[in-house]
Amino acid sequence: MILNINEIFYSIQGESSYAGQPCVFVRLTYCNLRCKWCDTEYAFYEGSHMSVEDILTKVRSFNCGLVEVTGGEPLFQPEVIPLLKGLVEARFTVLLETGGSLSVADVPGEVIKIVDFKCPSSGMEHKNQWNILNELGTRDEVKFVIGDRADYDWAVAKITDLTIADNWVVHFSPVFGVLDYKTLAEWLLADRLDVRFQLQLHKHIWDPSARGV
Ligand code: SF4
Repeated sequence: MILNINEIFYSIQGESSYAGQPCVFVRLTYCNLRCKWCDTEYAFYEGSHMSVEDILTKVRSFNCGLVEVTGGEPLFQPEVIPLLKGLVEARFTVLLETGGSLSVADVPGEVIKIVDFKCPSSGMEHKNQWNILNELGTRDEVKFVIGDRADYDWAVAKITDLTIADNWVVHFSPVFGVLDYKTLAEWLLADRLDVRFQLQLHKHIWDPSARGV
């Protein structure tokens, strides 16, 4: 079972309820979306072939119990499912960050899914598959990356109309370098939203353009 892997690295988890914890990231090559503010375009095509066993060996070498499988869009390669099963069987706590356009039905139930539905300013709103919500478990999480006030209003309507905030942890994250953090924080506080304000921690610890962190 072979996957195209963009990079495997050890860093600080920054984009979920696990934010702040040391984590091994497995970034898969390819993405079926083209978000306007994408910060991982290098994952669209760059990568090298690795077997599931080679990936597990590399992940084990970091001696860290938390692993996030991300991309690109990790679900674009069907072989990600055996990889996720292998990580679960190896007793890692496994996170999967996915873009909200591909079903998570085949993802093992033990994997904590973080579904990043796309706001209008990304240009990819039309790709959202809202029926993915029916595939989520109680430990899964939903994220919205907010670029402007229109995105914010849209996301608030979604978490209300689809009862997302009632069922899952919800993260609102500003697009880095586009939406002022304080502005988003003040919107959240003014509306008393039951969501978590989230920053991309790695961009504040290291150079924002650095890879492998
Ligand atoms: S889903 Fe993620 S990797 Fe794909 S284009 Fe959007 S931001 Fe980039």
